[in-house]
Amino acid sequence: MNTIIKKTTENDAFQVASEILQKGGLVAFPTETVYGLGGNALDPSASERIYKAKGRPSDNPLIVHIADKADVAQLAAEIPPIAERLMDRFWPGPMTIIFKKKDIVPKETTGGLDTVAIRMPSHPDAARLIRESGVYIAAPSANASGRPSPSTAAHVAEDLTGRIDMILDGGPVDIGIESSIIDVTGEVPVILRPGFITKKDFEEIVGKVTIDPAIMKPDPNLRPKAPGMKYTHYAPKGSLTIIEDELSPQLVTGNVISTINRLITDAAAEGKKAAVLTTAENRRHYHAENIILLGETASGEEVAKHLYSALRECDEIGAEVIYSESFSRGELGGAIMNRLLKAAGQKVIFV
Ligand code: AMP
Ligand code: MG
Repeated sequence: MNTIIKKTTENDAFQVASEILQKGGLVAFPTETVYGLGGNALDPSASERIYKAKGRPSDNPLIVHIADKADVAQLAAEIPPIAERLMDRFWPGPMTIIFKKKDIVPKETTGGLDTVAIRMPSHPDAARLIRESGVYIAAPSANASGRPSPSTAAHVAEDLTGRIDMILDGGPVDIGIESSIIDVTGEVPVILRPGFITKKDFEEIVGKVTIDPAIMKPDPNLRPKAPGMKYTHYAPKGSLTIIEDELSPQLVTGNVISTINRLITDAAAEGKKAAVLTTAENRRHYHAENIILLGETASGEEVAKHLYSALRECDEIGAEVIYSESFSRGELGGAIMNRLLKAAGQKVIFV
């Protein structure tokens, strides 16, 4: 299959993309979180194509993207008052809500579940594509399954060229990690995936909110309620380990730095190519040849934005072992560490 790539500024970009979606084809497009791989959410064969293009297990449901809040009523069987409040506050934006689904939403789109995940993105290109095509767009992240999510059109092209009809290139995304997912089908709302909108943000609007206990500390006895959270995700090809100071997990202490430097020396002695994940402010502490930066400082916004491209860079340089500082600081720390720990297959050295 020939994959058309068009910048969103090209005159016919949205028209071509809309026609592809209307015919059941697949278009990758920018959103404010990461690039999505879109197909018609109400067309079961389009959803099947999405799974196939990504190599994604078919029990891992897709998120349905809409351009108007009123469209929720077409897809959700019930809209609890809590959901209304969340939608008023956080849509359009990086929040996905889980509702009981209407029959019109095929099980192929929801991975066999009776619930549907819905999001109204704030990215103007995403909103325009949904409106112009007149299609509710089912879209997971536009990466090959298991690879880091794409924050640029080039990342999408790396993974999916020849496997999808079109890539709409709207430049690098803004946030860099996937939406927060919140389930409102029970008594108390539950966060199924941490993201840019935090527990504290949610609680300011709707009071008590819990976090699915299966997601932060993996436990074989707990099954995450967002099926995607059980898969190894985001992983670079090399072996990634996080180094954290047990007594000051928020800080990059001398202990963290000396441990990482020792590990780099060990790797060199074994002839292994090593890389360090850090920030511009700390880079001078390390003697590694390959230093990959997650931004100027360790602020959540900076690190979230650069996390996935940094993991892809590890692959590009062929890093065999990768050592990362811990980034649990601040409000976004939980969402970042959730992704980083998965990328590391939960390998942490506490010093
Ligand atoms: P992605 O955008 O690639 O992260 O994929 C969408 C994510 O949304 C998946 O990982 C799913 O786990 C989650 N998701 C989608 N629909 C549902 C649902 N009905 N219930 C729980 N989680 C869902
Ligand atoms: Mg994904």
